Amino acid sequence: MPVTISRKKEERSAQESTSSPAAIEPDSPPRIGVLAIQGDYAAHAQALREAGAEPVLVRKPEELSTIEGLIIPGGESTTFLKFLERDGFLGSLREFVRTRPTFGTCAGCILLAAEVLHPAQESLGVLDATVERNAYGRQIDSSIQTGETQLEGGPLEMVYIRAPRIVKTGPNVRILATRDGFPVLVEQGGIMAATFHPELSADRRVHRRFVELVQRSRA
Ligand code: GLN
Repeated sequence: MPVTISRKKEERSAQESTSSPAAIEPDSPPRIGVLAIQGDYAAHAQALREAGAEPVLVRKPEELSTIEGLIIPGGESTTFLKFLERDGFLGSLREFVRTRPTFGTCAGCILLAAEVLHPAQESLGVLDATVERNAYGRQIDSSIQTGETQLEGGPLEMVYIRAPRIVKTGPNVRILATRDGFPVLVEQGGIMAATFHPELSADRRVHRRFVELVQRSRA
C-alpha cells in the first residue's frame, strides 16, 4: 500500500518538533499524542508520522497540554486504568477527551466507551456506545480480516487482537465499518474508535482520517 505523504509535510514536521499548539501555524502538521503507558504506541507514532502528523509520546498528565489530539492505543484496558489512577492522570485525561480529538483503538476504544461489559469497568464515557471486552474469544481467535468501510479507496485490512465488540451505539455515532453486523470503526464528533489495530497494517487511511479530524478542530 503506497503511503501518500508529501515531502513538504515531512520537512515541516522535522522543523517544528518543539512547537506547542499555541505556536503552531494553521497548516503545520498537527502534534498528536500517543498514550505511551503500555501497548503498541510506537507503531501508532510511526503511523501518525506517515499520515502527516507529528507524534508525541505522552506519559505524564501535564504532557496533554502540549498536544492537539490523542491516540489511546491497544493493550490491556485494565492495565491502562491502573496506571491512570496514579497522579490524577485519569482526571486530566477525562477533561482532555471531552474537549480535544481522541482516537481509541481496541483497549483505547474500551476506555472511551460510555459503558463497558464483560466485565463492567470504569471508562472515560465520551463515546456513546456499549463495548463488550474480549468478545471474539481468546488470544488464539485473533485474526486479520479485510472488509468494506466508508473510507475511500476500497477494502481495508483490519487486525483484531482479543478485540472488543461494539454492541450498541447512540444516534450520534457514525458507523464507518462493520464486522458481522457490529460496528468496528466509528466516529462521534471529535472522537474516533476502532476495535481493530490500524497501526499494524500498512494502509494509512484510518490514521489520515484522524489527522484530518485534528486539523479541522483547529478551525
Ligand atoms: N482485550 C483487551 C482489553 O480488554 C483489548 C485488546 C487489545 O487492545 N488488543 O482491554
